[in-house]
Amino acid sequence: MSQRLIYLDNNATTPVDPRVVDTMIPYFYDKPGNAASRSHPFGWMAEEAVDYAREQVANLIDVDPKEIIFTSGATEADNLALKGVFEMYRRKGNHIITAKTEHKAVIDACQKIEKLGGEVTYLDVKDDGLIDLDELEKAITDKTILVSIMWANNETGVIQPMKEIGAICEKHGVLLMSDATQAVGKVPVHPKEVGIHLMAFTAHKMYGPKGVGALFVNRKKPRVKVTAQMDGGGHERGMRSGTLNVPGIVGFGKAAELAKKEMAQDAERVSKLRDRLEQSLVDRLEEVYVNGNPNSRMPHVANISFKHVEGEGLMMTFNQNIALSSGSACTSASLEPSYVLIAMGLGDDLAHSSLRFSLGRFTTDEEIDFTIDAIANGVNHMRDLSPIWEMYKEGVDLESVEWSEH
Ligand SMILES: *Cc1c(COP(=O)(O)O)cnc(C)c1O
Repeated sequence: MSQRLIYLDNNATTPVDPRVVDTMIPYFYDKPGNAASRSHPFGWMAEEAVDYAREQVANLIDVDPKEIIFTSGATEADNLALKGVFEMYRRKGNHIITAKTEHKAVIDACQKIEKLGGEVTYLDVKDDGLIDLDELEKAITDKTILVSIMWANNETGVIQPMKEIGAICEKHGVLLMSDATQAVGKVPVHPKEVGIHLMAFTAHKMYGPKGVGALFVNRKKPRVKVTAQMDGGGHERGMRSGTLNVPGIVGFGKAAELAKKEMAQDAERVSKLRDRLEQSLVDRLEEVYVNGNPNSRMPHVANISFKHVEGEGLMMTFNQNIALSSGSACTSASLEPSYVLIAMGLGDDLAHSSLRFSLGRFTTDEEIDFTIDAIANGVNHMRDLSPIWEMYKEGVDLESVEWSEH
């Protein structure tokens, strides 16, 4: 087999667009200044570059540049938003509402907040991955200070009804935060239109560099404040101290500018590839399930379960050639099924038999053709070797089989 490598793991990180790299290079060499150095031209150049990038990033999501706080990524932005709001608004209340399918950066920050005396409600999701709006509204109490719901899920691509969520928060006077890391730069995201007050995102999921992200913090009506989680020089309007990553921020800005110009055409092209991938696998194989609401989903993501085929094993049949993620997460001791898929009501077996394909700007037609063949062959191969598949084909009701204990 040819030594080709196909990258279908763009939700883990995207390659950096070469046009982004080009804008960054001068800030490693000719323009090495610290954006906080006020006394010489190197500092001014760096500051000017950061100001320009801040405008590019703000432009992409239609907010004021003053509302962008640069961070080291979305994990930091999530932590700053959740812990920063909890500390700042604690006298008003200690209750936060989020969902079971959120990214670990949100779930784990919330668990820390619980240890610090906060109360957190983790909403269930429906089988299609969407939260239940009635349940959200019922969960709000007079102690609730913040609702945190992600715009699009990293494993399934499911897009939450942000506008409706925003209306509920507005009605009850509660702040709304969103981890929009998987949506920004790929679909239109305008936090102010939907009533989001804080929003986290990151450059390396939208063809920018790793190690730089942002938190949008609404400045007017209401003026939202977060307590800094990093103490130091008072950068970023006092909300995030630390020398700015100038080349990274410059690249982030360029990535935002490109996304604004190209997202519509990228999304159209990539969604066709994604749909073809899904449809071909559904046509060629039995017992294939596409996870997540098909009408409210990112254009580049397919999360698919291949019943009675173990995902990690399936990946072994082709992972020299195709990079993607399975519905299993390696913890220190064992392979755990994805908590996102479990929250959507998939059993452990079906969760373990899932693969996430995340396409991107650089995915080609030909790569999708190759992938369809590789997956179909891999699934057939695994099933040919599987006694469980044989029993299923013979019509044995697998639910009723009593397995002997070893
Ligand atoms: C990747 C990701 C993060 C973490 O972003 P980093 O910049 O790597 O810290 C947070 N939330 C979601 C939904 C993500 O996909």
